[in-house]
Amino acid sequence: MYRIRIYGDPILRQKSKPVETFDENLNEILEEMVETMYLGDGVGLAAPQVGFLLRMFVMDYGEGPIKVVNPVILEMSEEKEVDEEGCLSLPDIFEDVERAKWIKVKYQTQSGEAVEREFEGYPARIFQHEYDHLDGILFIDRISPAKRALLKPKLLELIRRSKQEAKR
Ligand code: ZN
Repeated sequence: MYRIRIYGDPILRQKSKPVETFDENLNEILEEMVETMYLGDGVGLAAPQVGFLLRMFVMDYGEGPIKVVNPVILEMSEEKEVDEEGCLSLPDIFEDVERAKWIKVKYQTQSGEAVEREFEGYPARIFQHEYDHLDGILFIDRISPAKRALLKPKLLELIRRSKQEAKR
């Protein structure tokens, strides 16, 4: 299991790089990410959250783990949906976030095969949330400044915690 990076860790704000090598090492990292996601009781986990600046994430919306490498969002519906989100890197914070209801995406599997598919509703939400992580974007960036201001004490506490964990 990997250590999950908490808000305040600078890696969460960096842009990840495309995966270029599809080898056993990549498979091992993705497998360990799936493990870490389940142990953390999450539905998605992006590579930067466990210290790898690589454009990949894992997700499970109830039909088993999906490993997504080098994702691209090709199309998004104009229709939006608001629902509550949380994040393993922002423990105990849950806020309503507006996302496209439907997306068309392409990505590669762990062995480099190209996949093109569509997601709607909950799976589309998870995909967009994890995709954001690859560009250093967190879900709290997508809520109103007023709501974010209310989170300030919790966020400061997380920054303190992430600094402590980095020292270990
Ligand atoms: Zn997240």
